[in-house]
Amino acid sequence: MAKVQKLVIASNNAGKLREFQRMLSPLGIEVLTQAQLGISEAEEPHCTFVENALAKARHVSRESGLPALADDSGICVEALGGAPGVISARYAGDDPKSDQRNNEKLLEVMQGVTDRRAHYYCVLVLVRHADDPQPLIAEGEWHGEIAHEARGDGGFGYDPYFWLPQFGQTAAQLSHEQKAQLSHRALALQILLEKLGRHSIPPE
Ligand code: IMP
Repeated sequence: MAKVQKLVIASNNAGKLREFQRMLSPLGIEVLTQAQLGISEAEEPHCTFVENALAKARHVSRESGLPALADDSGICVEALGGAPGVISARYAGDDPKSDQRNNEKLLEVMQGVTDRRAHYYCVLVLVRHADDPQPLIAEGEWHGEIAHEARGDGGFGYDPYFWLPQFGQTAAQLSHEQKAQLSHRALALQILLEKLGRHSIPPE
């Protein structure tokens, strides 16, 4: 069975890239980034995570000629009907995207809301070439609550406000190792790697 030994991560998000490097390098998979290869960002025009992830993976695989792994993820707040959801990265606008402004907006919107339940969602799409008819797709969820104040300086994005009652900590207070075991991204990656083990690379 042919193995994926080198792939390009279809993302420019520094936090995601650090997490993928940490999780994939020990498996002997060489990780390149689209920025290293000078590949532009794909459009993310769709209203579902999976469509956006597929668009990103195809774009980067087409430009690089290599297998590409895309992550589309976000935080979904129950009391907000799943918002910010697919627009998590640009919740407070995209000129420029800002984690700090996103968090400020979320806290403001959540003022007076007692149901603080939320989950992170991640879908991963791996295409072995741009027109791969059998993209590998895996999902992960991570459940927690929206805290009233920021805690911790690890992670990225909404992590300082993502409260995990069973740990008495936010995601930003966890160690890298803990987040790499528990997160939506870690779970999706584990499922994807299992699927990858069962699939051979389809003919071009
Ligand atoms: P994407 O790059 O369009 O998939 O946007 C993902 C966005 O979701 C990030 O910019 C963060 O705002 C949020 N997000 C996804 N995963 C995480 C995480 O593990 N921690 C914190 N924020 C996350």
